[in-house]
Amino acid sequence: MPEHVPVTTGQQLGRRSWAEPWKIKMVEPLWMSTREERERALAEAGYNTFLLRSEEVYIDLLTDSGTNAMSDRQWAGMILGDEAYAGSRNFYRLEAAVQRYYGYAHVVPTHQGRGAEHLISQLAIKPGQFVPGNMYFTTTRLHQERAGGVFVDVIRDEAHDPESLYPFKGDVDLGKLEALVAEHGAEQIAYVSLAGTVNMAGGQPVSMANVKALRSFCDEHAIRLFLDATRMVENAWFIQEREDGYAGRSIAEILLEFCSYTDGAWMSAKKDSLVNIGGWLALNDSDLFEEARNLVVVFEGLHTYGGLAGRDMEAIAIGIEESVQDAHVRSRIGQVYYLGELLEAADVPFVRPVGGHAIFLDARRFYPHLSQDAFPAQTLAAELYLDSGIRSMERGIVSAGRDPKTGDHRYPKLELTRLTIPRRVYTQAHMDVVAEAVQAVYAARENARGLKLTYEPRLLRFFQARFEPL
Ligand SMILES: *Cc1c(COP(=O)(O)O)cnc(C)c1O
Repeated sequence: MPEHVPVTTGQQLGRRSWAEPWKIKMVEPLWMSTREERERALAEAGYNTFLLRSEEVYIDLLTDSGTNAMSDRQWAGMILGDEAYAGSRNFYRLEAAVQRYYGYAHVVPTHQGRGAEHLISQLAIKPGQFVPGNMYFTTTRLHQERAGGVFVDVIRDEAHDPESLYPFKGDVDLGKLEALVAEHGAEQIAYVSLAGTVNMAGGQPVSMANVKALRSFCDEHAIRLFLDATRMVENAWFIQEREDGYAGRSIAEILLEFCSYTDGAWMSAKKDSLVNIGGWLALNDSDLFEEARNLVVVFEGLHTYGGLAGRDMEAIAIGIEESVQDAHVRSRIGQVYYLGELLEAADVPFVRPVGGHAIFLDARRFYPHLSQDAFPAQTLAAELYLDSGIRSMERGIVSAGRDPKTGDHRYPKLELTRLTIPRRVYTQAHMDVVAEAVQAVYAARENARGLKLTYEPRLLRFFQARFEPL
């Protein structure tokens, strides 16, 4: 494995090879606004990009969740929806696709990823147990905490350093995990919560070597290992690019091998699987599956639809197969790298290496004159919208929320603003416009004054909090 990878692998990708393996059949017009209109819209939204109306946005890089463009085959599949309450044909298609491409034995559909997180957290965590993971994710940790678990971050230190070029910043630090087990005992560990391409670290991958080592560690201590498979397809691409022995293996093969080292997974199909809604929980253990199949009825719906329409399950089944095609993944991540190269050329500070689904601007280095209490990443998201109508998302102190014990802000090392690229939605020209807007905001960085909170919801505050300029 190379110690370091180049900031981008544009050369390796080959400028000719990542062009989209599809053409456009239908278009959706976008709103071109004036600065005055955007100022009004942002003030009404309390300077929180989550509270803007979609119609007020020009290029929407808020999230890659549920914002995918579906293919003609997926839309055709929607017509084949079997909307029976029980035993829909589309459920069996979804189940077969998960079994074939992710390799797990049993599948429970859920309305989206957090539905599956809720089920696994309720079933696999006893109050007071620890849940070690490779950096937290907002909804994942919240469900673990609601089930009485105590989340412990065991990701390697490089993940917290936006300038480290380590190729697998998503890896678990086995020393940290070992120390936790030594301190509390294996029976106090609910399970290891492993996520592919770690979102909060900037979309950084986990190596195959790391998941293999984790498997042996977990076997030794009789601890279960569950995977957040939400962006595992994109993680597989990084393994193909960077890890010894995988250059000649397909994305599908790598995905299947990676999942084989884990005991089960939860999934937000709204990301990798190229659909607008859906998720699932997959388990190898039959007893745990029986319990999950029982619990899903209470919160999501019968175990053959889990809160989804038959047509949605069909779209996911087709989307899974499209998502693991090498040409698709290469062009998807190629587009993220393209934007990274433009920003790199403009000397804008962002997290390296470029992640799979987004560019994470480093708001601390953007606004060194703002303290973290002035919400630099939230400020950057607001400034970017004002400049150009581009919508991004805060991933810093607001997203980190408050410590449930002390009630104080959590102060994460990373204070980031995420430019998330929806799959198969925007063109290279859109990426050019985004890069120009980021440069303009960077050039005006000294004028930024920061924000103050005026309203704070109790749970997942980043979604609905309101701010005012300082
Ligand atoms: C989006 C996401 C989830 C939650 O899934 P939803 O479909 O939004 O409920 C869980 N984990 C990760 C890594 C995610 O990105």
